Amino acid sequence: MTIALAVHGGAGPISRADHNPERDAVLRAGLAAALDAGHRLLHKGGSALDAVTAAVALLEDDPLFNAGRGADFTLDGTIELEAAIMDGHSQAAGSVTGVGVAKNPVKLARRVMETTPCVMLGFAAADASARTEGLACVTPDYFFTEPRWQALLQEKARLAAGLDTDTAPDRHGTVGAVALDHQGRLAAATSTGGRCAKWTGRIGDTPLIGAGTWADRHCAVSATGHGEYFIRAAVAHDIAARLAYAGQTLADAADSVINGTLLELGGSGGVIAVDVHGHVVMPFNCAGMYRAMVDGEGRRELALYRDEAAGEEAGTNPDGRSG
Ligand code: ASP
Repeated sequence: MTIALAVHGGAGPISRADHNPERDAVLRAGLAAALDAGHRLLHKGGSALDAVTAAVALLEDDPLFNAGRGADFTLDGTIELEAAIMDGHSQAAGSVTGVGVAKNPVKLARRVMETTPCVMLGFAAADASARTEGLACVTPDYFFTEPRWQALLQEKARLAAGLDTDTAPDRHGTVGAVALDHQGRLAAATSTGGRCAKWTGRIGDTPLIGAGTWADRHCAVSATGHGEYFIRAAVAHDIAARLAYAGQTLADAADSVINGTLLELGGSGGVIAVDVHGHVVMPFNCAGMYRAMVDGEGRRELALYRDEAAGEEAGTNPDGRSG
């Protein structure tokens, strides 16, 4: 059986003009590390669930991405993390929202899926569960990063001035992974700090199964973008439903939803998705999306911006094939 993996580190109005070569290099290194960690696991016969958990946990530990350590702040300057995971084979799912203590919310979401009768757990109950499950817990200072704090201050100033906040480069983020393993099982995981300066208590698309995260026997999807629109369009589930009911290809389904339904509603963002044959697609309808994949044929791609040629960062796959 073929294996495939894709990861993302957020989408939004991110263009080359906003970034410098040093920052690009570390972003690419962070994506490559997550991709390689997940792909190595799959290559050794590991499960899609383990691969997406490992890849997302690495991105959560990287302060450059808006999830875990590098999460954006709420309007009140607090941290409310969200994450979800779904096993396409059993359609088991777990998700958490309003998390403030778990170092790796994706691992907490997985515990919710595997050890509780719930699909979603939030706020105080989610924090309590992180502690009783013995997961790594941290104090609020762990999540303090100067760039995110500055982004919050800028965002509050923009809000006070009545300016359009959707075009601010640092207001977006989220990390995610989708995988197909040797046994033909699919999985998806997504994790985020949410939108910069979100209302305290606001719940985005990431932890909502079917909106920001979905996996079944047809495909696995992880989303990033303006969450309210992804919820209203049930983006991740709609892509899977098009495969199941309309017989669309993964590429057609994802393109119809991201560049059709979502865009028509006014929502910006993108998804990474993999199907049971190892096809990988990574469409987005904004300036850029941090993304990387190794598909079922061993093709490797890693890119940040829209205008990058596929395979610009072509390299060698963990299993030795050149991309
Ligand atoms: N989807 C996330 C949210 O709305 C943010 C993002 O991916 O940029 O919370």
